[in-house]
Amino acid sequence: MTHADATSSQRWLSERARGLGVSGIRRVFELGATLKEPINLSIGQPDFPVPDPIKRAAIDAIEQDHNGYTLSQGIPQLRRRIVEHLAEDVGWPANSGEPESGVGVMVTSGTSGALSLMMQALLSPGDEIIIPDPYFVAYPTMAELCGGVAVRCDTYPDFRMTAERLEPLISERTKAVLLNSPGNPGGAVMSGDECREVLELCRAKGVLLVSDEIYDEFTFDDHREETPGGRKCPSPAREAGSHEDVLLIRGFGKSYGCTGWRMGYAAGPAHIINAMTRFQQFTYVCAPSIAQHGCIAAFETDIDHLVESYRVRRDMVVSRLSAHTRVTEPGGAFYCFVEVPERLGFGEQAGERFFERAVEENVLLIPGHVFSDRDTHFRLSFATSERNLERGLDALDVLLRG
Ligand code: PMP
Repeated sequence: MTHADATSSQRWLSERARGLGVSGIRRVFELGATLKEPINLSIGQPDFPVPDPIKRAAIDAIEQDHNGYTLSQGIPQLRRRIVEHLAEDVGWPANSGEPESGVGVMVTSGTSGALSLMMQALLSPGDEIIIPDPYFVAYPTMAELCGGVAVRCDTYPDFRMTAERLEPLISERTKAVLLNSPGNPGGAVMSGDECREVLELCRAKGVLLVSDEIYDEFTFDDHREETPGGRKCPSPAREAGSHEDVLLIRGFGKSYGCTGWRMGYAAGPAHIINAMTRFQQFTYVCAPSIAQHGCIAAFETDIDHLVESYRVRRDMVVSRLSAHTRVTEPGGAFYCFVEVPERLGFGEQAGERFFERAVEENVLLIPGHVFSDRDTHFRLSFATSERNLERGLDALDVLLRG
């Protein structure tokens, strides 16, 4: 065997690595790089710069030599700020993070970091975690890498993972239910009542409720609820009144335009957070130090005006596309998951075929099968300028008319 044969073969790879496909989003990203000035409606990050106070805090951290490792669970100042925020936002104890509170709080390398540590901490081979379908692309793979099984809960057509839809899926092997509201790719926001019903079901069945709330700040006002601290995204953490059986996972990247800083956090039962921290010690070590310092300033930064500008774009998308197909209004995040009309005759791979047609018109979307066992939809991201969105919607108007 020549050297070239050896390096091009799969022979050094683990079975795990061989089984791992390329992310469908990455594929669209690479395709986008080959097109000339595409109208890119596939992007999963906001189009505004990091607010100045947050940038300043990170720059100061570099200049003040905060460039070394931090504690695995995160710098004390940021953890304290997260605790204060959770006390005000969801009513969790003001001494969270202290041993006597029973609540653990840790900073993670992105929300993805928190999700993957959570899966490591919870799933033994054969254990099940229920996820929504459509889902955030990484959920099934993360579960499978731990030998776990990601059981899909069909949430079409409104993308709500309600107690009624969940109940038949809970088995002896179910360890956790993973809720994602506002959701990617559907943008669905669960109401407070729906969150409470899911929580009560999980409690009755002895299952942990994990809530991925990476888009919580990105909830449009018409889907927020009144709370003592102002209008907020409904959350099972708030409904729970205690932290004993909810694991909350949140992030900074989407809300403050710093996805590349890799910043998230997790809070919940102390023994679970302690286990996640141990996995962090042996894997990521800690979240990026300068980003941790920068994100302290995030809690003083109001992004409501930015979210409102995304609400305007959401309304544009819903009103233009509803003329052609069924569109479920997103209550948060910056995606719309749109059904490919049957009359276009694309058959079973409607998402992929519509995506290919859109590429011919220089429009980049993501086909529905990337997020789902079905391929009936496409994801459109409105995290782009109104002008770009308008151009994209003009092209989709023609394509959807058929
Ligand atoms: N959860 C959801 C629902 C997401 O959409 C994403 C990112 N697209 C993540 C988690 C991961 O975010 P991060 O960049 O913070 O790892």
